[in-house]
Amino acid sequence: MLGCTFPKASGLLLLLSLLLASVTFAQSPPADPPAAVPRTANVPPSERAICASTYAAEKLWFWQRRLKLEDWNITVVVARATELKPKTLGNIHWDSAKKTAVLHVLDPADYDLPPREMLDDMEFTVVHELIHLELSPVLSQFPRDEANRRDEEHAVNQMADALLKLQRGK
Ligand SMILES: [Zn+2]
Repeated sequence: MLGCTFPKASGLLLLLSLLLASVTFAQSPPADPPAAVPRTANVPPSERAICASTYAAEKLWFWQRRLKLEDWNITVVVARATELKPKTLGNIHWDSAKKTAVLHVLDPADYDLPPREMLDDMEFTVVHELIHLELSPVLSQFPRDEANRRDEEHAVNQMADALLKLQRGK
């Protein structure tokens, strides 16, 4: 299984080395049209999903600590686009009483991005969903409608973006 299922550093390293060849290749000729950018097409879908879930679990572990959500038991599950709401890249379902949550991230098979951008986007989804979880004790007390859900999405995106820019030194 390529070693991607092995814990922490080894899995991440393997994933990165797996993706590195295509990333390097993708960056060299800037004149290439986006359609010609090599993706992870040579990696079987099941292995891509395993690598993606290892990567997402790494990021979950990191951001869960950063956001002081360690008392939650959170699981990452890779989901196909058809299992998510249209035009979404993930979601989170939680049980406040049990302090458990399941965080879904989009399967790489349904991403149309080069590997590095796909991984960055996957990390964004993890942070985004964790901020929803962070806000859940506050927001669950209010009646929800389309408008305030949209406002929440906007605020959560801004915060996730700010956190990731700080983390990435941008
Ligand atoms: Zn959201």
